[in-house]
Amino acid sequence: MPLDIRTIPCLADNYAFLAHDPETGATALIDVPESEPILSALEDTSWSLTDILITHHHWDHTSGLAEVLAKHPARVIGSAADSIRLPPLDLAVSENDSFQVGSETFSVIDVSGHTINHLAFFCERSKAVFTADSLMALGCGRVFEGTKSQMWKSLKKLMALPSNTLVYSGHEYTAANAEFALTIDAENPELIARINEVNQQRASSLPTVPSRLSLELSTNPFLRASDPKIQNNLAMIGANPQDVFTEIRNRKDNF
Ligand code: ZN
Ligand code: FE
Repeated sequence: MPLDIRTIPCLADNYAFLAHDPETGATALIDVPESEPILSALEDTSWSLTDILITHHHWDHTSGLAEVLAKHPARVIGSAADSIRLPPLDLAVSENDSFQVGSETFSVIDVSGHTINHLAFFCERSKAVFTADSLMALGCGRVFEGTKSQMWKSLKKLMALPSNTLVYSGHEYTAANAEFALTIDAENPELIARINEVNQQRASSLPTVPSRLSLELSTNPFLRASDPKIQNNLAMIGANPQDVFTEIRNRKDNF
């Protein structure tokens, strides 16, 4: 049975997720932007928390941890290499490690770029990946600590996952990302259709997260650095995709 995954809006535009294994009752929380909405989601569902997965050290992904742990003791999992900047970990993990939450296996992918040692967690059986501030809906995280080539390498790992994977990213930035995407990909009919859907979702205050990886591959400009149409729009035909990605990221930084 696949995980039952709930999207929990937190702070101004963050998301946390609860991933519940119906077979065993085990429940993982992915990121802890603040405690209150997470505590009420646990109350609403009556799920008992077993694990807390931290994607990266930024405060808007970790701030609520102590308050959640005080009410729901759980195993805290995060990057071994970043343990010095993270709250105390019960399980420190690295790229290609995997661990169980109930009957589901979570595999660890290093997606450094936004921060060094940013992790993504992929659930093969449930076809879900938790990407926080690496791959986002119609976008990718700003590159703060790593290099743009590192971010491109990280995105390529995510692009190689099964295309029916659902991408659970860490922020509701999709409408703003859509405006930028149009500046370099205005003639993409799939992008235009997606933006119409995003606008409808946001008008009803619905989350645009998760999104299907196949849709990101056809509409997210940051994943399309190899696409001749994008390269043509950037006057970079035949350029190295990593350079095209860098140009797209630079433009977004100044958008
Ligand atoms: Zn962040
Ligand atoms: Fe963030």
